[in-house]
Amino acid sequence: MTALPASFSTPFAHSVPDVEQRVLLVVARSLDRDPATIDLNSRLFVDLDAESLDMLDIAYSLERTFCIRMPRVNLLQRASDLFSEQAILKDGIVTETGMDLMRRSMPEIPENWIKPGMRVYDFRLLITVESLARVVHRCLEAVARLCCSQCGGAAVPNSEFSMAMICADCGHTIELPSGEHLLVDDLRRVGEEMHLPIVGEPA
Ligand SMILES: [Zn+2]
Repeated sequence: MTALPASFSTPFAHSVPDVEQRVLLVVARSLDRDPATIDLNSRLFVDLDAESLDMLDIAYSLERTFCIRMPRVNLLQRASDLFSEQAILKDGIVTETGMDLMRRSMPEIPENWIKPGMRVYDFRLLITVESLARVVHRCLEAVARLCCSQCGGAAVPNSEFSMAMICADCGHTIELPSGEHLLVDDLRRVGEEMHLPIVGEPA
């Protein structure tokens, strides 16, 4: 039996309510809003009038706040790459399969928000503060599982460069997990549940 890497036994230090609260504050600050006027179900593009540039700013701030790498791609676009465009979209409209995939991938979204006739760019209209918090939490879990590829030592934040970790034992640089890879991993898992064949590998 091999010993567990040291970081494996480190308790995962981020509770869901704590992450949600911090994400809400980041969103409020980026959009210059009073946090008291925002809740977890607020939709970024619908209720909070966010624009694409605001989303980039929010993603960047979340990365700095939590030391993670956020995915930047549209879930439906990645799903089309992975499971074929025909499975997910028909004439630009999200298919039943695509809607099922979204419901399973975004459990925080009320099911009735995902309606027939949706187009790929309508996807962003669904994104809530809670959606962001779920993604942040997912990234944090992956960071908590990091350990050194050279010696198995624990990953600790690199004091010289904020967006990387370093091995506590040998000093080897440990890259942060890519948010895009995590998103694709999760899509694969959901696809497996749905018995969707994989036809392509996202770039
Ligand atoms: Zn090491």
